[in-house]
Formats: sequence, C-alpha cells, structure tokens
Amino acid sequence: MFDVIIAGCGPTGAMLAAELRLHDVRVLVLEKETEPTSFVRIVGLHIRSLELLAMRGLLDRILPHGRQRPAAGFFAAIPKPAPTGLDSAYAYLLGIPQPVIERLLADHAIGLGAQVRRGCAVAGVEQDDEGVTVELADGEQLRSRYLVGCDGGRSTVRKLLGVGFPGEPARTETLMGEMAVGVPQEEVAARVAGLRETHHRFWLRPAGVGVYSVVVPARGVSDRATPPTLEDFRQQLRAVAGTDFGVHSPRWMSRFGDATRLVDRYRVGRVLLAGDAAHIHPPIGGQGLNLGVQDAFNLGWKLAAQIRGWAPETLLDTYQAERRPVAEDVLDNTRAQMELSSSEPGAQAVRRLLTELMDFDEVNRHLIEKITAIGIRYDFGAGPDLLGRRLPDIDVKQGHLYGLLHRGRGLLLDRTERLTVGGWSDLVDHLADPTAALDVPCVLLRPDGHVAWIGDDQQDLDDHLSRWFGKPAN
Ligand SMILES: Cc1cc2nc3c(=O)[nH]c(=O)nc-3n(C[C@H](O)[C@H](O)[C@H](O)COP(=O)(O)OP(=O)(O)OC[C@H]3O[C@@H](n4cnc5c(N)ncnc54)[C@H](O)[C@@H]3O)c2cc1C
Repeated sequence: MFDVIIAGCGPTGAMLAAELRLHDVRVLVLEKETEPTSFVRIVGLHIRSLELLAMRGLLDRILPHGRQRPAAGFFAAIPKPAPTGLDSAYAYLLGIPQPVIERLLADHAIGLGAQVRRGCAVAGVEQDDEGVTVELADGEQLRSRYLVGCDGGRSTVRKLLGVGFPGEPARTETLMGEMAVGVPQEEVAARVAGLRETHHRFWLRPAGVGVYSVVVPARGVSDRATPPTLEDFRQQLRAVAGTDFGVHSPRWMSRFGDATRLVDRYRVGRVLLAGDAAHIHPPIGGQGLNLGVQDAFNLGWKLAAQIRGWAPETLLDTYQAERRPVAEDVLDNTRAQMELSSSEPGAQAVRRLLTELMDFDEVNRHLIEKITAIGIRYDFGAGPDLLGRRLPDIDVKQGHLYGLLHRGRGLLLDRTERLTVGGWSDLVDHLADPTAALDVPCVLLRPDGHVAWIGDDQQDLDDHLSRWFGKPAN
C-alpha cells in the first residue's frame, strides 16, 4: 500500500512526487509510456517556476541545460523590452527542452525516494473510505490512500471521475515540427520576416545545424492524437507562405489545438487532479508547464500534511480554492492573447493599440507579472497587500531566503527576535534576523513560500500556525 499514487510522470507528476518525498510520503508514479517523450520542443520556464526550483535547491542543476533570455515579449509575442522593477532575483526566462526538464524533475523525485514505474497506464479507479484502488491496463490492481491524476490534457483519471471539463473546443490547430529545408537560409529569412508581420501563428527558424523549427496553422481541426504528415506541412506552408521551402527529412512532427477547458473540481474524495489534467489552453505565452509545476508545489505539502496526520480540517481543500482561480486567470489571458494573434483587421487594430499601451512600463509589468505568475495573491482573508503573495528571495543573515526552504518546511522570519514557533517546531523553522530585508516585523511562510501571516503578536501568530499547521505538538 502506497500513500499516494500519481498517474503520469510529466513535469507535474514528477514535481509532485518530489514534494511529497520531502515529507517522507510513500509515492508511486505510474507512467503509461515506456520511454520518456522525444518531442524536443523548447519550453520557457517563467520567473515563479525558477523561484520554486531555487527554493528546493534545484535551479543550479537546471540552469546549465537551458538558455536565459530577458523576461520580455511573452504577452501575445508583442515585442517589448523587459519592464523595470520586476521584483525577483530570477527575473528572466529559461528556455529548456521539455524532455530535459522532465528528466531532471523525475531524477530529482527518484533521488528523494519516489518509485517510478514506466509502461503502466492507469485504466480504472475506485475509491472507498480507506483509500483508492487503481487498476492498470493489464489488470493489475494497486492500492493507495490517495491518487493524483497528473496524466495530461486527455486525463484518464479525470474521465473516470466523471468531473466536468467545460470550456471551448479547439477552433484552430497548429502543426509543429523540426525538419530540413531545401532553400538557402537567406531566402527563408527574407520570406519569414515579411509573413510574421501578420501571421503570428507562423514561424520557420533555425533549430540546429541543417534543421528548422516549423510552426504553421493547420487547415482545420482534426483528431489531435494523429501526428501530421510531411505532406500536411508542405500543403500548409504553401497556403500560408506561397512556398513549402522544400521541407524534407523531418525529425519529429506534432500538432496542437487551442481548446480551452477547466475542470469543475480539483478533488473528488481521495482523488485529485493537477496540471494539464485539470486545465488546458493554447500554448501562447508558454504557461501550461509552469502552471502544472506550480499546482504540484501548492498541493504537495498539503497532501503530505493530510497523510502525516497534521493537516487542519480544510487544508487539502485550499488546493482547489487557491489554484482554480489562478488557472481561470491563465485561461483568460490565453484567450486574450489568441484574439490578439488573429490576422482579422479588428484584432490587428486592438493589437496595435495594446502595443502602444505597453510602452507604459506599468502596463508592461502587469502583463509580465501575470504570465510569470509572480503577481499571484492567494485569498487568505483581509490583511496587508503582502499577505497571500510569495516572498521574493530576499537577503537574510545566512545569505538568501530560498536557501532556507530546501526541505519544504514552513518558516517564521522574525525581525523582532522575540517570537517563537513553540509546539510547531517539527514543521516550521524559525529565523530570528533583525537585518532581514523586510519592511514588516515578522512573516510566516508556508512551505510553498507564500506569506501566511504578518505581525508581531505571539497569540496571533499561534492562531495562524494552527490554521496552517494544525495542533501544536505537546
Ligand atoms: C507547442 C507547445 C509549446 C508549449 N510551450 C510551453 C512553454 O513554453 N511553457 C509552458 O509552461 N508550457 C508550454 N506548453 C505546455 C506544456 O507542454 C504542458 O502544459 C505540460 O506538458 C503539462 O504537464 P503535465 O505534467 O501536466 O502533463 P503532460 O506533460 O501531458 O504529462 C502527462 C503524463 O501522463 C502520462 N499519462 C497519460 N495517461 C496516462 C495514464 N492513463 N496512466 C499513466 N500515465 C499516463 C503521459 O504519458 C505523460 O507522460 C507547450 C505546449 C505545446 C503543445
């Protein structure tokens, strides 16, 4: 019997497994594919994800595998410089191949003691008061106390739960792949530069020696499970660019749609959903993987608390209460970005107007903070603006704040030097540091780095420690 079975070893599942292992939870990850994915698409890790990786001491391992770019130009691909004053020590975008980040996260989870079984597709789920029975495609049955479906946009777990997944079906589809071209580079560059002015869903650019990355709108909407053919690419390139650039020798070919959907519920009893299993949207702005990893970060310590027996009554339900509004916001901003990328005259006019507005630094910063998820404020009730927000990696006397969060515990950052975490010291660290770069006396941080309390009164602090970390140990 495992404590938690996770369906799917994509970025969300791997991150969740690692977070659970920080709290000694027995985790089994079941992955349908026998081999890791081979689609070498580059994904962008945004500021908040980089911060989470720094909080767990992972970022230094990951940085050498990616390329840092300015935190700019993501919103509807409107080319603007990075806004000033982004309040983060990690104010850049890290472009990294998705298979690489998946492998690094899976290795991290395995290194912490998670078991991963490949070639195991979850096919059935039944739950009772004690736990969940998971049936694999070959009929094997496994038992755990909780199950989390991190099994992607076509999630089997979600379908088995029968949870509603309302939203809009795909209206457009895009072909994406890597292949060689049969014309000189200068000719490609000249043709592409002109087309990109109006065709924001098209690109053709070098992706290594002799290989181009090709993204081109598909003709209609088909069954996304079927990969496109080289002939599909040729036809669509001719339709958009007037030439197929002599494409040949594809490395891989794929398609994606712009369906936008969000689950009604993130939890049904002992079964939860995270990542693409809970929300899908077009990849514009590059937020899906980031959103999933951040779901996992929010859920990990709460599910661990439930399993270790110290979770306050409603803690696990705060997962949906906090993360569903964040996903709603991401869905909305991708809808907006898709409209802005249409080649219709009206949409182009709105795009030109927004392009002008983004010259106001505050507008630019607002949009970048939205996409990079550093603008998130969870609703923890009335209080100062910092309450519910994440704390940046501020300087503390031992160096940097995030260096103190590697073990996934809570932290009392105390400039007054007179407070205590008392009976919660098994779960919450205490740093008395009058020099900490804070402009409030004291903050209580949750294991995900969000500010759960601000103040200087011991009784008030104890009430908030109970709220987030349960009853004190005797
Ligand atoms: C073209 C494109 C570009 C993108 N660019 C970005 C970007 O720049 N930034 C960004 O943040 N996001 C980006 N995304 C989105 C990102 O790829 C996804 O949001 C991300 O992969 C979701 O991670 P996940 O772990 O939730 O799901 P997935 O990555 O889909 O992983 C799910 C896993 O579950 C497994 N599985 C499925 N069914 C079962 C089953 N029944 N049993 C067991 N295992 C199962 C699958 O094999 C898979 O390994 C992009 C997407 C596309 C299409």
